[in-house]
Amino acid sequence: MQEYLSKIPKVNHLLESVQGMELVEQYSHLEVVETIQGVTAEIRTELLKGAGGSSFNPERLTIEHILAQVEERLLAGTLALLAPAVNATGIVLHTNLGRSLLSTSALQAMTAVAANYSTLEINRESGERGSRYDHVQGLLQELTGAEDSIVVNNNAAAVLLTLSSLAAEQEVIIARGELVEIGGSFRIPDVMKQSKARLVEVGATNKVYPAEFEEAITAETALLLKVHTSNYRIIGFTRTIELAEMVKLGQKYQIPVVEDLGSGSLVDLTPYGLSYEPRVQDSILAGADLVTFSGDKLLGGPQAGIIVGKKRYIEQLKKHPLNRALRVDKFTLSALEATLREYRNPPRARKEIPTLRMLTTSKRILRERAERLLSGLKEVLPLQCKTGIKEEVSRVGGGAFPLDQLPTYVVEIRPDGSSEQELARKLRNNNPSIFTRCNHGKVLFDVRTVREQDIMLIIEAVNKCFQKHEQESHD
Ligand SMILES: *Cc1c(COP(=O)(O)O)cnc(C)c1O
Repeated sequence: MQEYLSKIPKVNHLLESVQGMELVEQYSHLEVVETIQGVTAEIRTELLKGAGGSSFNPERLTIEHILAQVEERLLAGTLALLAPAVNATGIVLHTNLGRSLLSTSALQAMTAVAANYSTLEINRESGERGSRYDHVQGLLQELTGAEDSIVVNNNAAAVLLTLSSLAAEQEVIIARGELVEIGGSFRIPDVMKQSKARLVEVGATNKVYPAEFEEAITAETALLLKVHTSNYRIIGFTRTIELAEMVKLGQKYQIPVVEDLGSGSLVDLTPYGLSYEPRVQDSILAGADLVTFSGDKLLGGPQAGIIVGKKRYIEQLKKHPLNRALRVDKFTLSALEATLREYRNPPRARKEIPTLRMLTTSKRILRERAERLLSGLKEVLPLQCKTGIKEEVSRVGGGAFPLDQLPTYVVEIRPDGSSEQELARKLRNNNPSIFTRCNHGKVLFDVRTVREQDIMLIIEAVNKCFQKHEQESHD
């Protein structure tokens, strides 16, 4: 052991070697020194603990070996913590994996605005100050039929701003069955409290009648709120209040009607096997005064909260001090403008916007993709490892279409000699991270959310996992 201890190279020797100097050039003197000290200290501790027996490989004490380890650690330290991942869960709007991917045109718009000065708040004609909301105003009007619009940080912010501007210190009437919790601490009653509006719930959980709404209206009533139960359904013996019924009451008593649509789609997805979801333009047509929805759910754009509706209410929202705090940035606005532009041609939107493309991919294409993935995996997997393709279902996610199950194909691996959880963990720790589903001893890759370029990444990652596995079982 003593002999080995004295053979650990000195920090100076390591630094002065050709590879050492190269590392200092690429990183920094301090980082390289600290990493060398870390690696050599670990070897020293290992030897002092008695690892110096016949199983110890003396090659581990060579300059090459130590610096290779140092380089690996330095490289790992430069990898971003918020990094791209492969989504093989099949959940299209996976909130923890970042919800919607942007279309090519949205990406281009965003980079151009990030790298250059932009026309964010300037009027080209007059050279005077303009409004950041103007860029999407025309498109939102054209696509939804609403008079005016404003965009904020996310839909939670949109609801908060709406309630704070129109209903602070006053009453808001809502059906008991629509007191939604979205997760991530967004609950309608809590948002209501934060906005200083007073909640007036009417009806039973499963049934509510227009007459109950009408009876609850007082001189204190500031607005009637409808919240789309995006992530759950009340089924069976039920009666909800229709937006049109609320609009009738709103008009009779001169009270604005607001709808939080949640996902807020601009296209009808029923031809692709999804159930009916109200579109934003349907709510505007039904007479809602304001409609709020997310930018990164079914719309397939950047994270944003979009509010469309009557000009006089939007004006009030724009003037509220909270609006400045919830303000949307130039990257979001540029990506949103480009995404909305795609919707002028719906068939193109379906192809170009990744969220819509993934939700509407045909079974034939999914099957072909699964076969390509499987044949690539078979080339790198040990022969005894069981694999296959199975029909399964994908979820939409993001609190949209909670009951819908989209038919899909999954590629399955039953790891031989380790658990499916262990393989899934290794895949998550790969660079890039691969996220999968697990089911009864098998790891599943749902190809609905796997893009062409992801197939190679999955195959490489699985290959690495199984090589490591082999090594570990030989050690
Ligand atoms: C998702 C959702 C929200 C929150 O939207 P974010 O954009 O995630 O802030 C609010 N209300 C409903 C009904 C939703 O579905």
